[in-house]
Amino acid sequence: MIIAKSQKDMEKMRAVGELIAEVRETLREMVAPGISTLELNVEAEKMMRAAGSIPTFIGYAPHGMVAFPYAICASANEQIVHGFSTETPLMDGDIISLDMACTLDGFVGDTAITVPVGSVSDELKDLIRVTEECLQLGIAQCRPNKRVGDIGAVIQEHAEKHGYGIVRDYTGHGIGRKMHEAPQIPNYGRAGTREKIRAGYCFAIEPMLNIGTPETKVLGDGWTVITADGKPSAHAEHTIAITPEGPEILTLTKGQKQALMAEIAEIASA
Ligand code: MG
Repeated sequence: MIIAKSQKDMEKMRAVGELIAEVRETLREMVAPGISTLELNVEAEKMMRAAGSIPTFIGYAPHGMVAFPYAICASANEQIVHGFSTETPLMDGDIISLDMACTLDGFVGDTAITVPVGSVSDELKDLIRVTEECLQLGIAQCRPNKRVGDIGAVIQEHAEKHGYGIVRDYTGHGIGRKMHEAPQIPNYGRAGTREKIRAGYCFAIEPMLNIGTPETKVLGDGWTVITADGKPSAHAEHTIAITPEGPEILTLTKGQKQALMAEIAEIASA
């Protein structure tokens, strides 16, 4: 069953969304050659706890899996998702995907970005750009009376148009009091199929695009997911709410929301 949020729940989803977005933007600024993902993890956990929230990923153990040990998932290069933080410094030319979630006042916000480390190849820049475009296109489908299949259909079409493999083994999801609620939101599929989207739903939309094959493998740590062919992968995620007017991105910082409103005001006055 998909849980529709009350107005009061929605305020809490906004609050946690803004908080996790602040963490994400802080980490984005920190990424540079020489920094380790363990340092990023420490900063993320510190920020989450200082704001009175709980790092949702720590201890997360679905279906008898080993408990996830970190506040963020840090997945470099050929790693797709669920990577462990390490002391290994990031190197110029790497890409690093940072996925993070926290729970504030009983509600979860979940977001991910892929960040270039130093100067990266045009091939990797394109991969990151198209992944973000897929996220935006998917979000644009999130309005009342559309269907969950509409989201996957536009994401898959855009990714494949650019020659990328769209990961099928991991999906977006409903979100609220739990990080993973119904429905599953695949990044592929057919328009007009699956559950109807209604106002009050909250979704985490999170396309994962591979330069090569969409096939995945899990490393011996039980968590880290890599591409089957060892080629790079990128990931982007927002938590969004469906309002009667359409999608509202919850995982934006105050500053990002203000910039967006200024942009809209400028368009309106032109
Ligand atoms: Mg997620």
